[in-house]
Amino acid sequence: MTEPIQTYNKSPIQLLSEIREDLKAYLQYMRGLGYAGVTLSENSLRILDHWSKATMSETLDMIRTDLGDCRRCKLHKGRKHIVFGTGNPRAKLVLVGEGPGYEEDMQGQPFVGQAGHLLTKILQAIGLAREDVYIANVIKCRPPGNRNPESDEIYACIPFLRRQLKAIRPGLICALGTFAAQTLLENSTPISRLRGRFYTYEGIDLLPTYHPAFLLRNPSKKADVWKDMQKLQEAYEKV
Ligand code: URA
Repeated sequence: MTEPIQTYNKSPIQLLSEIREDLKAYLQYMRGLGYAGVTLSENSLRILDHWSKATMSETLDMIRTDLGDCRRCKLHKGRKHIVFGTGNPRAKLVLVGEGPGYEEDMQGQPFVGQAGHLLTKILQAIGLAREDVYIANVIKCRPPGNRNPESDEIYACIPFLRRQLKAIRPGLICALGTFAAQTLLENSTPISRLRGRFYTYEGIDLLPTYHPAFLLRNPSKKADVWKDMQKLQEAYEKV
């Protein structure tokens, strides 16, 4: 039996934004399956155009409330905490990782384990504290055994990250590792080729770099990340 659609306690802004993000995620998912697109009527196109131009600003709190005790994918079964994201809601820079690990799941905060400590040091090296930036992940619940996120999990979760980015409207995004970079840029280019250059995500400059957990396993790549961080710092000063 299909579940009833629950719309109570949601403002029209939240509902419209959610429908738009759902639709977008669905179309992206279909494209991933090889469908070129869908045919829409003139009227639907006008409505979509209007939605995209309307200033539908949500706050992070509204998005967190909407996420609720999320059961939109199978990861809810094994999680201890949802890891929504932390930091400055008006940050100029948002860092996006892959998904929570053991420590993050225990504490409900992103990047608080070993990779997180390295990330904190990397930020400090370019003059930033964690409180200056906002940190979030592609998926908000820990996959069992820290396996890679699966496409249905990303599909269910990504609308929330997109809405967070829209609410914060940072000047810069740093995508940490393969999943963050490929998901936000909607491509499958290896991180080794993506890193170190700026791309655009929804009009925001996005710099991919290696994930701190990868750096812990491959310390020789620190020099590359250092080069990337210098570019990030330079861009940050101009935002
Ligand atoms: N790795 C991630 O990608 N995100 C976290 O929050 C922690 C580790």
